[in-house]
Amino acid sequence: MSERKVRVRFAPSPTGALHIGGVRTALYNYLFAKQHGGDMILRIEDTDSQRFVPGAEAYIVEALEWLGIKFDEGVGYGGSFAPYRQSERKEIYRKYVDQLLDNGKAYIAFDTPEELEAKRKEVANFQYDAATRGSMRNSLTMPAAEVEALIAQGHPYVVRIKIEPGEEVVVDDLIRGKVTINSSVLDDKVLYKSADNLPTYHLANIVDDHLMEVSHVIRGEEWLPSAPLHVLLYRAFGWEDTMPRFAHLPLLLKPEGNGKLSKRDGDRLGFPVFPLEWHDPKTGETSSGYRETGYLPEAVINFLALLGWNPGTDEEIFSMDELIRLFSLERCSKSGARFDYEKGKWFNHKYLQKKSDEELARMFAPELAAHSVTGVDAGKLAKIIGLVKERISFVKELWEQTSFFFIAPESYNPKDVKKRWKPETPAILEELIALLEGIGDFGSAAVEAVVIPYIEQKGYHMGNVMNAFRLAVVGECRGPHMFDITEIIGKEETVRRLRTAIENIKPEND
Ligand code: GLU
Repeated sequence: MSERKVRVRFAPSPTGALHIGGVRTALYNYLFAKQHGGDMILRIEDTDSQRFVPGAEAYIVEALEWLGIKFDEGVGYGGSFAPYRQSERKEIYRKYVDQLLDNGKAYIAFDTPEELEAKRKEVANFQYDAATRGSMRNSLTMPAAEVEALIAQGHPYVVRIKIEPGEEVVVDDLIRGKVTINSSVLDDKVLYKSADNLPTYHLANIVDDHLMEVSHVIRGEEWLPSAPLHVLLYRAFGWEDTMPRFAHLPLLLKPEGNGKLSKRDGDRLGFPVFPLEWHDPKTGETSSGYRETGYLPEAVINFLALLGWNPGTDEEIFSMDELIRLFSLERCSKSGARFDYEKGKWFNHKYLQKKSDEELARMFAPELAAHSVTGVDAGKLAKIIGLVKERISFVKELWEQTSFFFIAPESYNPKDVKKRWKPETPAILEELIALLEGIGDFGSAAVEAVVIPYIEQKGYHMGNVMNAFRLAVVGECRGPHMFDITEIIGKEETVRRLRTAIENIKPEND
């Protein structure tokens, strides 16, 4: 087969916020397209007006832009196959519906929802197919004149594909291999509804993939059951030669590993399942997003890239460009990918470490302001962040790690007091104050070189003294290297905090 230009599409239905699994589908399409110098199309599949949600399309565009998944063509991008919104392509579909009707590959059916319901009650496992269509109200069983008359009178009807039984249907999937089924198990799916003059998903999807010269259909596993019908539609149109290659991506599984990841898992376990915060216009409910939770887009990309694909090595950190180079459908797994949210946090941690202290300081500024801390010298702030950044997975965690640099402790951790504040501590800290006051260079190493030998010389318990010192300065026994802290807050403030602690810490007698 001659090489076709790679053209892929991301084809969401605007029925709500884009789920994180949908983001992964978009990402894999993007990686595949860019690797092959191909095109990535954004097509909006909005033929189901019942399920249309205002704002969903804009949300999808904004989310993918945030993540750096770019389109070459499509809604909002333009292109030579426009329009890319299916609701604007009604006329086009009608023509192809007629083609199938004319070729006898489809037929018109008048059965009302009530009639179909009655059949389902009457016949166990009823499906509209070769075995049952002969007893239904359609253009195969009714005289042509009657069919015409009903249409002329405006009776609603649907167009169904006429599936020939006993045919072998092969879906040759790039991830799953060959999946063969017998056409007898398929039903005569509705392709078009006269009521709204709109095609169903199946018809619009196939017609558009054909017209837009899509070469590869990369989509979620939930669409695999539709694939045999899609193959038959290509056959019915006589488009087998240009049928796209299919690749069905594995499901995203719950963190526990059993069952499909759902929005409820996110609510239950406290992690976002949407890229951006989403305000549902129907329920008024707000769902958290990766962006608002403090994720870096590059961390989300890296995390998602590895949920269903692996590079074949132990390496885990990949930029978008590296992913474009390394990605392959052959290395996508057939089995579901467990959604390991902790791993997502780990990626964010890793990507935060790549940021310069100055950049993190800028990102942290709004949080500082929210805590009424203003006027901190930029260089000093960067230095503080450099001391603690390896402890954080989100920028907002910087506050917890650094607040004592800006605000003197107002209370002291009781457990630490109990453990480290001995009867002799105040007197020793008074000596420490005298010692510190005599030091000219208050740099970390210089102070350390004075204080540590002093404690040793005096024969004091190193752990107790240093921890009491820390308790006085930080409010608890944690934080970066003690003398790095005192360098930043300075001599005066260090001494002031020691004095306050001596005055205020009253250990309980035990
Ligand atoms: N509109 C479908 C969806 O919402 C597209 C499925 C496909 O990619 O064929 O996912």
